[in-house]
Amino acid sequence: MNTARNKPPQIVLRTIAGIRACGHADQFKVLANERPDWAARRREKWNAKQCAACGQIAQEKQQAEAAARRAARPGGVVDLFRLFRLPDGSTITLSYRATDATHGMWTGMLIADGRTIQAENDGVHRLLRALGRQWKASMAALAPVESPAEQQQPEKR
Ligand SMILES: [Zn+2]
Repeated sequence: MNTARNKPPQIVLRTIAGIRACGHADQFKVLANERPDWAARRREKWNAKQCAACGQIAQEKQQAEAAARRAARPGGVVDLFRLFRLPDGSTITLSYRATDATHGMWTGMLIADGRTIQAENDGVHRLLRALGRQWKASMAALAPVESPAEQQQPEKR
């Protein structure tokens, strides 16, 4: 299981049947040229760990939970649409501008309730988060951001 760096490949002499921490039967590998105390310590860890199949399931579950936490985190991109509502008719415009051969910048404009919020970032997701944060901040301050006359929409609520 260990990916050895700058080490000769492990030579498995034989395997010993055993039970992993998850309760599943598995084969412990007895390696050639392994110091007995290292082998004993490795066996202890082997006994305390779950089998590869259970480890895979646990890892996938952890990744799914981490993804859900990221999505729900304040300021997460999902936030913009899930944790608070933009007014009906809100519009987001994104435009990309190359700054050199390999880099570029995204400019975003959120128009909602006749107000315009602008932000700039080299990443689309960070830009959406920035627009969301600025929108929330502007709502909290209840200080309307100046908007161009042609962007005026009828007042809601
Ligand atoms: Zn198992």
